Amino acid sequence: MTRTKVPTVFLDRDGVINRRIMADYVTCLAEFQLLPGVLEAIARLTRAGFRLAVVTNQRGIAVGRMSRTDVDRVHRHLSECVAELGGHLAEFYVCPHDRDEGCGCRKPDPGLLDQADRALAVDWEASFLVGDSDSDIRAGAARGVTTVKVAGRGEAIADHYAADLPEAVAWILDRLEGGSPV
Ligand SMILES: [Mg+2]
Ligand SMILES: [Zn+2]
Repeated sequence: MTRTKVPTVFLDRDGVINRRIMADYVTCLAEFQLLPGVLEAIARLTRAGFRLAVVTNQRGIAVGRMSRTDVDRVHRHLSECVAELGGHLAEFYVCPHDRDEGCGCRKPDPGLLDQADRALAVDWEASFLVGDSDSDIRAGAARGVTTVKVAGRGEAIADHYAADLPEAVAWILDRLEGGSPV
């Protein structure tokens, strides 16, 4: 039986959806600040027919800055905010490991993308990843999705560069022929 493959947009979280906290982690809801325009941008991707999956390294769990429950609480809140604007963000793939654990899911490894693929098969060629770090771009490139980097250029070569998530989404939607990802 062949599995239906779904065009997916993988979204990094910190620095793409919410303000990144330099040299620390978002440990609780009070520290979670949405960036401008992201809820509407996510709703636009949903309306275009994409499945959306957040893929996020949360090493703060490994080093004891927060618990998985704290992270899940933030994600429930984000899902609710997205839903209020008509978007759908149900999938969160989190790497809770430290750098030296060799887990395979910590970006730049593509393990989180593979987790999404196991839940619901990804149409890699029709899929995108938006991230603000080289590690995001490398994870996306490892599976052949089209990568969009926000917040400036780094060492990894992305397929496209955008100022922020709303601009990245506008570019992704511009690329769709007939307005649908498939
Ligand atoms: Mg990030
Ligand atoms: Zn991991």
